[in-house]
Amino acid sequence: MPLKFKCPFNEECRNCCVFNEKEEMPIVFEDEKEMLENLGQREFEEIRFGNVKLYKWIIKGRCPFNDPNTGLCKIHEKKPLSCKMFPLNLRIKGNEVSIELSFACSWVKAHPQALRLDPKRVFPREWKALEEALERLRRALT
Ligand code: SF4
Ligand code: SF4
Repeated sequence: MPLKFKCPFNEECRNCCVFNEKEEMPIVFEDEKEMLENLGQREFEEIRFGNVKLYKWIIKGRCPFNDPNTGLCKIHEKKPLSCKMFPLNLRIKGNEVSIELSFACSWVKAHPQALRLDPKRVFPREWKALEEALERLRRALT
């Protein structure tokens, strides 16, 4: 059976949405930042990518939208693309975009062979969110 990401959420792992490293914090688009600001979020750091403004959403510890009792996202329907693509992470340095697998994810830690496989096949749903983010970046640059 080909390896496919299946989050064991609620059975073995609820490690999502708790941030200790800045690198792991979500990168959000301007409209996503506005949506989060409307929900009371205030801490963002600007990231420039060409002429496009993106933001690192600074979350210290557990995301305020993560329900500590259930582990579920309270804004699931409108959560940012970075959250939808996890455990795929966008990395932006200057004008370079790269995609990394997050070792903050217990499933990734338990399946390091996923690093060598085609992420489109291993993470089909998350890859869609990633493609949407890349498409938005492409459109914003043209
Ligand atoms: S918005 Fe939702 S999915 Fe994203 S970090 Fe917060 S709780 Fe997790
Ligand atoms: S850290 Fe990975 S395995 Fe754990 S709940 Fe999050 S996505 Fe699922």
